Amino acid sequence: MARSEKKGHLFVVSAPSGTGKTTLCRLLQGAFDTLGYSVSHTTRKPRQGEVHGKDYFFVSHEAFEAMIRDHGLLEWAKVHGNYYGTSLSFIRESLDKGMDILLDIDVQGAEQIVKHYPDAVTIFIMPPSMEALEQRLNARATDSKDVIETRIRNARDEIRKKDLYRHVIVNDKLDAATNELFELIRSYL
Ligand code: 5GP
Repeated sequence: MARSEKKGHLFVVSAPSGTGKTTLCRLLQGAFDTLGYSVSHTTRKPRQGEVHGKDYFFVSHEAFEAMIRDHGLLEWAKVHGNYYGTSLSFIRESLDKGMDILLDIDVQGAEQIVKHYPDAVTIFIMPPSMEALEQRLNARATDSKDVIETRIRNARDEIRKKDLYRHVIVNDKLDAATNELFELIRSYL
């Protein structure tokens, strides 16, 4: 089948923050010709080094709420007090072109995606332990104490939902987890 006649795959990767998911997803970018990355919209303020249009589209509350009203988002959720959402037109157009897309989104978003795309390949990244997660979040030092505490509370809730995912990968050693994720994605392409 010609590439343009074949629909792409959606890969949905979720993990509690501090699990190394963003690093893992970055390592995957460029590894597969047809694998694109969905850049989300968020009302969160950029962290140091983050680039508008590459890491996120950083938008105001008003702009985000207008996107919700105009049905411009395939899914959206409030995570740690900020809005995050996936562009509907980007996903539709990419899949129609036969591109495969990787989404780095939270559990609430993954549940919405599966309703629209039951064939989406859902992958949950686990920290090796809660202690390791707390250490990583504290070491990151980009967030305040309050933010870290909220993220730890949310992590416990998210981990309870891991069985909703088709695949679970434990990120103990980054190299091993990257390989596992790479092989998993390759097995679907
Ligand atoms: P962070 O602020 O650390 O970049 O991301 C916080 C959380 O929001 C992460 O769990 C991330 O996966 C999630 N997230 C990022 N983009 C989206 C999105 O478009 N939709 C949803 N539902 N969650 C997102």
